[in-house]
Amino acid sequence: MSSRLLIFLLLLLSFPAIGYSSKGQLRILITGDTKGILASEYASRNQGWLYLADALSPEPGEVPTLRLDAGDLLGGSDFSHFLTHEHSPPRFPQLEILNALQWDTVVLGNADLALGAEKLKVAQKIANFPMLAGNVVSIRGTWPKFPSFEIIEKGGFSIGVFGLTTPAAPMWHEKLANDLAFLDILESAEEITQILREKQQVDLIIALLHSGSNKKFGDQENLYADLPNANAAGWVADHVTGVDLVVSGHAHQTFPRRPTTHLNRYRTPLVAPGAFGNGWIEVHWSLELRQKRWHITQSHYQYVEAPQEIAEDWLSWLPWQKQADQFMTTELPIRWLKEPSKTAWSNCTNELIKVALPEPRRALLPSWQYEPLLFPNTGELLKRSHLHRWWPYRNRLQLASLYGPQLDMLIDQQKWSLIGNRLLKPTKQDVWMLNYHLQGNEGVFRALIDQDQLGQYDSISWPERLFQFLRTARTLPAECNFLKIIP
Ligand SMILES: [Zn+2]
Repeated sequence: MSSRLLIFLLLLLSFPAIGYSSKGQLRILITGDTKGILASEYASRNQGWLYLADALSPEPGEVPTLRLDAGDLLGGSDFSHFLTHEHSPPRFPQLEILNALQWDTVVLGNADLALGAEKLKVAQKIANFPMLAGNVVSIRGTWPKFPSFEIIEKGGFSIGVFGLTTPAAPMWHEKLANDLAFLDILESAEEITQILREKQQVDLIIALLHSGSNKKFGDQENLYADLPNANAAGWVADHVTGVDLVVSGHAHQTFPRRPTTHLNRYRTPLVAPGAFGNGWIEVHWSLELRQKRWHITQSHYQYVEAPQEIAEDWLSWLPWQKQADQFMTTELPIRWLKEPSKTAWSNCTNELIKVALPEPRRALLPSWQYEPLLFPNTGELLKRSHLHRWWPYRNRLQLASLYGPQLDMLIDQQKWSLIGNRLLKPTKQDVWMLNYHLQGNEGVFRALIDQDQLGQYDSISWPERLFQFLRTARTLPAECNFLKIIP
């Protein structure tokens, strides 16, 4: 084939919907819940943006392609914690990588919102693309504005992408509920779809949701916290008419697992791109214009695993990950002598909490999970990463001033223990709790505790508080006989 003919054919493929053509092609690349990981050191596999980047890069003459991310891109991992809490201003190399990939748009997830208004303003300045969150409303006007939708022109199509995030976000993260209101996903989706179809007259509509698709998942959390449904992507796919594709993040699901030409689990095709940068979802559509409307005539949906190697062009980003890994693997002068029994573990951690707490040395916390998989090897030193894994969500402690009956109710829930000095007075008592629990998770009723019973926050995250304590501890509680301070 002559090269001129080849170029002509390539051009024909790239601009199929321009001019008088009544047929077109669209490719959609979808990532989600990567937690900003570039190339995880701890993972036993190839995961992170550096592994994905080459495959997601724009190529000259590519089929018209949309690049979308389903959220939890800026926060939610050791790596992002390091970049956003140990750097001021916070750093977002993942956004610079997405800029280089000419990314189209992302929806903000709960772990992104948890960074707070100031850090998100920095992120917004770096990103060359909009960060959507159409159902998040700033109550006091102190938060940046996040658009509901973005209209993207690709290959002659006008594509409306709208972004909504899980309304249960305040459950995982401190203070969000003070500043933000979360609107119901289903209602917001119906409203925005109507605007996109009737006012904006787009050709195609994609719902980019940081919200799981399992209809049962999250039921209980919502009940306790009195928040709208957390995982509503399946509802949108079944009940909102006029949407062409639903993308579901947050629940770390992967749909479809095998390549398929039809997705029929819901009324509208629903895809979910997995998590941690292990791979991405690829959608291919062939479209035909009939009676002034584009119809999808052929479709292909596929999950693609991250390549085995980082392509050379992207290796220059690796030092970011190395720095973060170095920080998270900082060793404590404490040796792990042997794996403790379950009882020994819970006795030790309860005593440790007590001595590491800021005043008052009293807390209402569930015990650390007994998770041998997350334990160091015999003889190994404890690392910062161990503490961060033992206490997920990196919550800070907050004082709660509780009445006697409230305390009784909370302590009654079996796995909870009141740690620290005994409560003698029957009146109000100040105890530290983790925001995660205060906001309604693991069976603690948010409604039970009134806003004005909440006191000060600890200045640093709880795992970090523990790390700082252990770094300089001269003695450890006798119960922790499987740990030894090395002089
Ligand atoms: Zn999430």
